[in-house]
Amino acid sequence: MVVIGLIVAFVLVVIFSRRGTRACRWRADRTGDKGALRKYRCAACGAEAFTATDGPPRDCKADVNRPRL
Ligand SMILES: [Zn+2]
Repeated sequence: MVVIGLIVAFVLVVIFSRRGTRACRWRADRTGDKGALRKYRCAACGAEAFTATDGPPRDCKADVNRPRL
């Protein structure tokens, strides 16, 4: 019983994480760079995130920063 619950929970996490990744369209914003941190802005939800590595962030910050409609 417990194992089944864990599997279901894991599947749900995977589904939601994929949704967030698909929904986001990260675009680099050089004007917002802070040293080694590169600023990215999501064109889909308007979220802003900083990364220290090459490439856009994986997760979507849509739940943190709601877009202004
Ligand atoms: Zn987004």
